[in-house]
Amino acid sequence: MKTYLVTGAAGFIGANYLKYILAKHTDIKVVALDLLTYAGNLGTIANDIDHTRCEFVKGDICDRELADKLFAEYQFDYVVNFAAESHVDRSIENPQLFLLTNILGTQNLLDAARRSWVTGKDEQGYPTWREGVRFHQVSTDEVYGSLGETGFFKETTPLCPHSPYSASKTSADMFVMAYFDTYKMPVSITRCSNNYGPYHFPEKLIPLIIKNILEGKKLPVYGDGKNVRDWLYVKDHCKAIDIVVRDGREGEVYNVGGHNEKQNIEIVKLTISTIHQMMTENPEYRQVLKRKEYNEKGEISIDWINESLITFVTDRLGHDQRYAIDPTKITNELGWFPQTKFEVGIVKTIKWYLENQAWVEEVTSGDYQHYYEKMYGDR
Ligand code: NAD
Repeated sequence: MKTYLVTGAAGFIGANYLKYILAKHTDIKVVALDLLTYAGNLGTIANDIDHTRCEFVKGDICDRELADKLFAEYQFDYVVNFAAESHVDRSIENPQLFLLTNILGTQNLLDAARRSWVTGKDEQGYPTWREGVRFHQVSTDEVYGSLGETGFFKETTPLCPHSPYSASKTSADMFVMAYFDTYKMPVSITRCSNNYGPYHFPEKLIPLIIKNILEGKKLPVYGDGKNVRDWLYVKDHCKAIDIVVRDGREGEVYNVGGHNEKQNIEIVKLTISTIHQMMTENPEYRQVLKRKEYNEKGEISIDWINESLITFVTDRLGHDQRYAIDPTKITNELGWFPQTKFEVGIVKTIKWYLENQAWVEEVTSGDYQHYYEKMYGDR
């Protein structure tokens, strides 16, 4: 039985991954470590989990004592590090927190793993490692910087981060690779494009747009809306990490992407039209609307759900123009490819939000309100 430490497991991708691996591998145990910041929520991991094989620990990845205690107690085979401050806009407001969590937190986990996993020294003085262990770092395509109109990020593309968030993730990646080069630690890294799907915190584009439509609010779009991102359904990302942790080569980086480039404005327009269509086909969903207008038949009207809700706001500082991943390496070596077509994934995602408004209410009370008002006023 393999034992995992999954950090950031109460956040968006960590929680989806936790559910995925527990369902897929019935012979594993997981310790889910999360500080439960504004982005982490126990409600996110309350359902669809076999709790007899999963233990939750509230704690900070920067806490050395806690990390040592957990490694000693559970003898982890795999560490999968999702825990991070993940929002670029917040990194522009408060860069230091991103350094602390994303860099020092990762390095603290690397050291705890090293203290626990090293079994001795080889004849050249390099540490020898317990059989079958792996430290996996969940990273992002943002470490590569920005592309022009053509080209793709490959694993060999030079690292060139622009935001405090991506700079902190790049630094963490470099520490992970430094532990491989210096200590031969068994590590791997995945660098993924933008994810979407259930449990995505509503400060990020797609869930924010869904939330604002349901509330009848304006839909803020940065700059001219032409920035391009490569969108991947979260479950496909979880599958990629699972494959790399178990079968990827040590000391390697694997890019993960959806072959699905879209401008932000396209995403917003598609979300509007999909919600409109879903509410036309299934009028029950209209009950979820907080803005209630009625037509002459006394039905809840959705005529106002259209592109006039879009409002262009001052661009994000240093906003990267285009990200696009070339996932050839993971496809050729490990057989992974993005399975969920965007047209299918976006409907699944919107359906999930329409049917899980209690979760949205829960995670957006408190700090979220202050943050939203600061960023966008009371639109
Ligand atoms: P998220 O913000 O939804 O979740 C992050 C989780 O980490 C939260 O549960 C939070 O409570 C926890 N956390 C924060 N600081 C912590 C600390 N000091 N100790 C323990 N836990 C802490 O983020 P996400 O979107 O799920 O991203 C997860 C990882 O994937 C991040 O490392 C991110 O850089 C990476 N990533 C995200 C995307 C994306 O599109 N969301 C794409 C590529 C890579």
